[in-house]
Amino acid sequence: ALFPLSDAFIPVAQGAEEWHTYSDSVKRLNAMHPKKEDLPTQQTLNPADFKELQVDNVRFTYPGEKVPIIKNFSLKLAKGQKAALIGPSGAGKSTILQLVLGDIAPQAGEVKLNDINVRCLQDERPKLFSVLNQEPFLFNTSIYENLKMANKNATADDMMDALEKVQLADFVKSLPDKLDTQVAEAGARFSGGQKQRLALARILLQDAPIVLLDEPTVGLDPLTEQKLLNLVFKVLKDKTVIWITHHLQGMKYIDQVLFFKDGVVEMSGNPHELFETNEHFHNLYLMDQGSL
Ligand code: ADP
Ligand code: MG
Repeated sequence: ALFPLSDAFIPVAQGAEEWHTYSDSVKRLNAMHPKKEDLPTQQTLNPADFKELQVDNVRFTYPGEKVPIIKNFSLKLAKGQKAALIGPSGAGKSTILQLVLGDIAPQAGEVKLNDINVRCLQDERPKLFSVLNQEPFLFNTSIYENLKMANKNATADDMMDALEKVQLADFVKSLPDKLDTQVAEAGARFSGGQKQRLALARILLQDAPIVLLDEPTVGLDPLTEQKLLNLVFKVLKDKTVIWITHHLQGMKYIDQVLFFKDGVVEMSGNPHELFETNEHFHNLYLMDQGSL
């Protein structure tokens, strides 16, 4: 049985190699998971050697559809850089994340990590990517087991370390069986923000260089959202991040913002520079009462 809590990629060594998600669109995409025989020859990439993520003129049309949902999308992020992807609901933002992960293959263009097409790195994904979705989930076992899934070598100390970083250590210590508490039991006491922080602890234990955030603060109240964002970008300081968001809060953490609509990037750049040079962005920004 599944319990909504965390979305870190479950390592293959733990016997589960599927991408665990909760949202409907991603569920539909899961049905399209690449089969081994459809993939090009697999290669390896040591996470420590990751230097650059490049999405190069990608086009994607869903099977059975006539119009590409992604007409042309490009993005280049050096290790440690962070992008925000903004666009209306249904624009194809989550689809872009699936392309980045190599879950689906573009009909034109490619996604590369260093010089390697991501479709050639499917077995490496648990080491390379983490995802934080809107609604995380956890397996219905103990907190310990759930954290262990993110990294089979993690000790209880490592786990408490990660929980400390996401400000959940005190909460877990307050539970009757600490790390051994069943999540279903603890779950009733978890708030939305705490669930995302537990998912974040898993991401820290997993320690992949690239983290994809798909509107992780949706449904949280503004103050909890602000706190979670500050925490997310603090603990992911050294990670390469693509963050799907619907407004302009948190731009101070972002190197590159891309506005995606009707299949293409309509406006992009460094948010600070855009604020100075682009009237449209300037106005959008002020309307959203963002803070740089
Ligand atoms: P966003 O994340 O920007 O809200 P999505 O990437 O989830 O957008 O979806 C973009 C569009 O593609 C939506 O109109 C959605 O209905 C459609 N879509 C998503 N998954 C599939 C699929 N597996 N098959 C066909 N259409 C899909
Ligand atoms: Mg989406």
